[in-house]
Amino acid sequence: MVDLNPQERLQEVLRGFRACVEEARDSFAEGFPPGTNREPAVRRAATGVELSPDGNRPGGDAALRSVREEMGDCRRCKLHERRTHIVFGVGNPRAELMFVGEGPGEDEDRKGEPFVGRAGQLLTEIITRGMGLRRADVYIANVVKCRPPGNRNPEPDEIAACQPFLAKQIDVVSPRVVVALGKFAAQTLLATATPISKLRGRWFDFRGRKLMPTFHPSYLLRNPADKRLVWEDIQLVMGELGLPLPLPLPRSVKPGP
Ligand code: SF4
Repeated sequence: MVDLNPQERLQEVLRGFRACVEEARDSFAEGFPPGTNREPAVRRAATGVELSPDGNRPGGDAALRSVREEMGDCRRCKLHERRTHIVFGVGNPRAELMFVGEGPGEDEDRKGEPFVGRAGQLLTEIITRGMGLRRADVYIANVVKCRPPGNRNPEPDEIAACQPFLAKQIDVVSPRVVVALGKFAAQTLLATATPISKLRGRWFDFRGRKLMPTFHPSYLLRNPADKRLVWEDIQLVMGELGLPLPLPLPRSVKPGP
């Protein structure tokens, strides 16, 4: 048996974990096993969205298109005045996991896709490197679909105007787990004024689905020490979805520089 130094042992552990994640990912055709919590019949969601069946799954693509068509060239709130694009949402229309953020920033407004700036890169890392999924496996949307000027916070009337579209997206995608990224997403979905620091890391019921609030990636860019807390929350989500969790490192092995 070859004697390994701590650095080599760590590399062995990481190699084993990577192989484990890749094997699990390969075995899930769409990143997650087919939904087991889907309702088999045509149903009308609480938001009034018709969910047509596709096999035994809601009709994600077409139903999402119909929500987008209903939104049209939306001018329901003043955020329409300075937007470049409506940033509707992106990802797997049948995702088991949905991330909800606050609103588009400059990059998202320019490209018309949520979470593509620096905060988006961090979210993508959480999904791919942290969870072992592809970004296309999950669905990503925001509370407001147009960029608040200067990246200011969305105002209550803007959230109220746009929130029904988010509710319809959630009903259509019908994820098992919703991760609310940051204060606005968590407080909007849970209809509470409780600070995100007190909400994060706890499971909530969201119309029959599990909802996990955690910090927004843009907060993590300013407060990288709190990545540890988000990782704890994400591991709870992974456990709930049955995703393989990283192996704990042996106590004696410390990651190298
Ligand atoms: Fe419409 Fe929402 Fe944009 Fe306001 S933020 S204009 S409600 S799409």
